Amino acid sequence: MAQVTLNRIVKEYEGGVQAVKGIDLDIADHEFVVLVGPSGCGKSTTLRMIAGLEEISRGEIRIAGNVVNDIPPRDRDIAMVFQNYALYPHMSVYDNMAFGLMLRKFPKEEIRRRVENAARILDIGMLLDRKPKALSGGQRQRVAMGRAIVRDPKVFLFDEPLSNLDAKLRVQMRTEIKKVHQTVNTTTIYVTHDQVEAMTLADRVVVMNHGVIEQVGPPQELYHRP
Ligand code: ADP
Ligand code: ADP
Repeated sequence: MAQVTLNRIVKEYEGGVQAVKGIDLDIADHEFVVLVGPSGCGKSTTLRMIAGLEEISRGEIRIAGNVVNDIPPRDRDIAMVFQNYALYPHMSVYDNMAFGLMLRKFPKEEIRRRVENAARILDIGMLLDRKPKALSGGQRQRVAMGRAIVRDPKVFLFDEPLSNLDAKLRVQMRTEIKKVHQTVNTTTIYVTHDQVEAMTLADRVVVMNHGVIEQVGPPQELYHRP
């Protein structure tokens, strides 16, 4: 069974802009899928509909077999990593990672176990007492990923997570994201306009243009040498 299924999904914004024009996609358990395409092609809208941050105009989205169209973001079994990290500035790294679990009333020991495990995977154990402003861009990005990992969701959603980083750090974090996926093996949907990112990260690349899917396939098939 597919972990995420998009069935003819359409997004019409007010004013009549059709940002997504009826796309179909099945994403398998553990798969790393990258949505790539030029600015304005509908990648982010698609991801936000999967997250529940944007209403679906028509069609159906399933996560782990369940239709989620009317399920609010917090109750979908997903965790999203944003470009701007969205860390709480007044909280320590530990509390930033623990916060989502505290809201969901996880026991303290379980929270500690999960935060420490994520910190080990991301190599940020020495930063747990710091505030976000005392971190580098790459470290903030790791904390943002840590917040997703501790939740242990069915699906990770990444929205252009590396576009605020400089070129060198981007390459480094790409490797890091790949490593995290190999470790936790969570189904991942990753949005970027960067073809190199798509090629290096994806099991399968989904090329979007003008609100439709133009091509789908493993990177070696889509980006072969001429
Ligand atoms: P991408 O992520 O590929 O850059 P988006 O999904 O952000 O593309 O946008 C797809 C289209 O929808 C664009 O034409 C964009 O201008 C339009 N759009 C995005 N958000 C809104 C919105 N809130 N209201 C109206 N139009 C929007
Ligand atoms: P998740 O656990 O899904 O990652 P968050 O931890 O980001 O969710 O936020 C959970 C809820 O807490 C959201 O509804 C959000 O609006 C709210 N929230 C966001 N920022 C803060 C904050 N600084 N302090 C308290 N609550 C917040």
